[in-house]
Amino acid sequence: MNHDDLNHWSKRAADWARDYHAGLRDQPVRADVKPGETAAKLPSQAPEMAEPMEQIFADFESIVPGATTHWQHPRFFAYFPANASPASMLAEQLANAIAGQAMLWQTAPAANEIEAVMINWLRDALGLPEDFTGTIHDSATTTTLSAILTMRERVLDWKGNQHGLSGLPRLRVYASGETHSSIDKAARIAGIGQDNLVKIPTNAAHQMDPTALDAAIQADLAAGYLPAGVVACVGGTSIGASDDIAATVSVAKSHDLYVHVDAAWAGSAMICPEYRHIWAGVEGVDSIVFNPHKWLGAQFDCAVQFLKNPVEQINTLGLRPEYLNTLGQEEITNYNEWTVPLGRRFRALKLWFTLRAYGLDGLRTRIRNHINWSKECRDIIAKIYGFEITTAPAFSLFTFRYNNSDADTESLLGRINDDGRIYLTQTRQNGNFVIRMQVGQFDCTREDVMMVPTVLKELTGV
Ligand code: PLP
Repeated sequence: MNHDDLNHWSKRAADWARDYHAGLRDQPVRADVKPGETAAKLPSQAPEMAEPMEQIFADFESIVPGATTHWQHPRFFAYFPANASPASMLAEQLANAIAGQAMLWQTAPAANEIEAVMINWLRDALGLPEDFTGTIHDSATTTTLSAILTMRERVLDWKGNQHGLSGLPRLRVYASGETHSSIDKAARIAGIGQDNLVKIPTNAAHQMDPTALDAAIQADLAAGYLPAGVVACVGGTSIGASDDIAATVSVAKSHDLYVHVDAAWAGSAMICPEYRHIWAGVEGVDSIVFNPHKWLGAQFDCAVQFLKNPVEQINTLGLRPEYLNTLGQEEITNYNEWTVPLGRRFRALKLWFTLRAYGLDGLRTRIRNHINWSKECRDIIAKIYGFEITTAPAFSLFTFRYNNSDADTESLLGRINDDGRIYLTQTRQNGNFVIRMQVGQFDCTREDVMMVPTVLKELTGV
């Protein structure tokens, strides 16, 4: 296959993509396959001889779509969305065509400079103060890892990187039980250890209790631990919990601790000024992550980190061997020094395309619609016989339960997802099995959301 063939097949792929998206509402949202089914359709070894693209494309069409869970299905209400606006898909096609590697300014000047401008655009769009700058990572997980490594090194005066952690005091990081498992993973990978990620109790509003946080830090100091930082959540994955950021910052800063905020999903909603009270006090934190690939429409993967003082992270993650020097431009920003991987994709392009193609106003309308439709849907479900709303909508996420029974709720969830018209997932709330419902898919309409109560009524026979 050469570049002329690529041109031909790209057009075929574009036609396929249009038909795929146009037909999604007729497909089951969750893949209707058994484990191993797809692998069994592939030969066990790579071909020795080149195969015709016609055959490769035909195999793609016959094997892949039917074994795919359709994240861009308008009735995808599971997990959180991984939205791909058409404009961001186009940007990804162009980034693929360039196939550059943006590790240094000189390896991709346009990518790096557009990244810097996109960070500023988003910072302003989210109402954050101008003393935040930032960068783009692949995922919230590696962003949080970067922040936790930075809080570790900051409290160790950057000795951990040099000497290792052996012989140093045991570090402590604090978060509530509502934070995502990526915080646990980062504490493990950063050498802090799961046991030293202290889970602070939450109050009735599912927020980390600031008094309990302060008491835990004081107790740890008295016991000879070294507190390093706090991770707060805004829009937690399970039920959408948001910590009181101002109170958390006040406690953390009284002990000179680093504060990182995980707003991976809900950060996108902050383009709407009316939701910003939920993270009031955010101007006092050191680091924030949000994933425009979740709710804003920038195709996966795209995680934005805002940083108050990037030098602390650069001192933690940056290395400059001779072969990575930008000769004559030593002061230039090289984003690989801000992130875990050296190699970096041109992720800023899809932000540029998405923000321009829909405008902040268009993106705000989508998010407001999602939140309003979610509340409307909650109101209808609350009135269906046997159903109980277990957590109120946080942004566009709420949970519910059927017959006040784990077994009945789980069995209903299985039937919902086998039915295929909608896709929902589960969590545990106060020890109970509950169904999560979030509205956020880029193309979803009010009618798509209203399909949820219709399916629930049909499947429970009321
Ligand atoms: N934080 C929150 C609140 C999440 O909901 C998720 C994933 O859904 C993550 C972090 C991890 O995101 P990523 O897949 O970008 O690592």
